[in-house]
Amino acid sequence: MGLLDRDLEHGGVFITKFDDLVNWARLSSLWPMGFGLACCAIEMMSTYASGYDLDRFGVIPRPSPRQSDIMLVAGTVTFKMADRIKRLYEQMPEPRYVISMGSCSNCGGPYWEHGYHVVKGVDRIIPVDVYVPGCPPRPEALIGGILKLQDKIRKETIVNKPLAIEKFL
Ligand code: SF4
Repeated sequence: MGLLDRDLEHGGVFITKFDDLVNWARLSSLWPMGFGLACCAIEMMSTYASGYDLDRFGVIPRPSPRQSDIMLVAGTVTFKMADRIKRLYEQMPEPRYVISMGSCSNCGGPYWEHGYHVVKGVDRIIPVDVYVPGCPPRPEALIGGILKLQDKIRKETIVNKPLAIEKFL
């Protein structure tokens, strides 16, 4: 029996801060945009599958950037894809987050030195919140990255937070 079941079973009252309540709801329903760029995406797909079952964290992939709040960059970011990734990121509503999965996305990976076609880290085109190391990272590592992001969201301030537009004024 969970804490909420126990305390609310007989009509109890639960007191919390507004920030905590909203953050709890947000971190419990993170919806990543469903796309992958290279071999890391295979590990990402396996993390979604029944063996690791990301659904139990409330993480359910969405087919559109307009319904997503995480961009999970899994794979090699080529210069050809960089513009598309940036455009998709800009189509996501705020607040939005980015997890960079694997060495290619973190820093260029095995193409770091001689890959003339590879961006040396997705953070050169969009801001990254969590980096997951590995080539490829195992599903456990990706789950670790998602838990890290949940920790970050848990500490965010909602009340009195400046609107995104105010940053540019
Ligand atoms: S980090 Fe390794 S596994 Fe992932 S996309 Fe690059 S080469 Fe493939």
